[in-house]
Amino acid sequence: MSSATPRTLITGGAGFLGSHLCERFLAEGHHVICMDNLITGSANNIAHLMGHERFEFVKLDVTTFIYVQGELDYVLHFASPASPIDYLKLPIQTLKVGALGTHKALGLAKEKNARLLLASTSEVYGDPLTHPQKESYWGNVNPVGMRGVYDEAKRFAEAMTMAYHRYHEVETRIVRIFNTYGPRMRLDDGRALPTFMKQALMGDPITVFGDGSQTRSFCYVDDLVEGIYRLLLSDEPEPVNVGNPDEISILDFAKEIIELTDSSSEIVFKPLPKDDPQVRQPDISRAKEVLGWTPSYDRAEGLRKTLSYFEEQIAKRETAEA
Ligand code: UDP
Repeated sequence: MSSATPRTLITGGAGFLGSHLCERFLAEGHHVICMDNLITGSANNIAHLMGHERFEFVKLDVTTFIYVQGELDYVLHFASPASPIDYLKLPIQTLKVGALGTHKALGLAKEKNARLLLASTSEVYGDPLTHPQKESYWGNVNPVGMRGVYDEAKRFAEAMTMAYHRYHEVETRIVRIFNTYGPRMRLDDGRALPTFMKQALMGDPITVFGDGSQTRSFCYVDDLVEGIYRLLLSDEPEPVNVGNPDEISILDFAKEIIELTDSSSEIVFKPLPKDDPQVRQPDISRAKEVLGWTPSYDRAEGLRKTLSYFEEQIAKRETAEA
């Protein structure tokens, strides 16, 4: 690492998480190179950053080859379809970006002598047999199931990252991200939170899959970004869970959103997708100990901030359709 202004590449920078990271790293004084092929990311997410003197956007598929001119201090590899309906629609791209894309990102980090942070996921734990999930748990993943394309790509990505760390001595960090929400999630990405908010705001039935007893633990995006920033600057090469341990069943979550939006929507039950994890809750002891990090937003506050965003998006859509 050499330059006075740190230079940071963020793959998937036009995605939901990527765009928040671009903002944070600009605010920290970095020169940010945002790379995205825009298959699930959107130029709208970074439109407000275009023209910033320390921001560049490069439209590129990182599975082929990554070329960056000049020095680099940090590489954050966040490119990947990330919602179940996206990776079911884009199974090969999902496998390629987790495997080939991670390889290219690591090769680039090695060449530039940069530190790489890999966006991994709680999906490496699959349908977990321990609860809450600690980093030492190896997971329960069905490699040939529909979700396997994402889970196995990320497991491979972790293995590749550790190999570059051990064999090539590249400085690496691995964050295991649990369910995260906030502004710039796509209304139609199919995940529970945007789907429920959209349904509640439109007065449509809220579609709970299964009996809704499966649990998730939702983290507000600003908390996640803080955890990632701290991890990048830490000395920890082992994976670190970053998520909010406040666990809730999907049925209670649907009720919470109906209440928040003061909606008249009813709850309807739909079949549970195959291999849908029954429980998910991060054990964040390592993040507390190594990063001094705990989430600061409670769900009520995070959901209120997210709701305003979705209200605006729906209003825009209605104006466009009128
Ligand atoms: N889910 C649901 N209704 C929907 C979308 C999702 O009940 O319209 C459930 C889904 O089956 C899962 C949970 O909500 O149990 C969280 O799903 P999401 O797609 O948000 O993320 P995941 O944690 O499964 O990757």
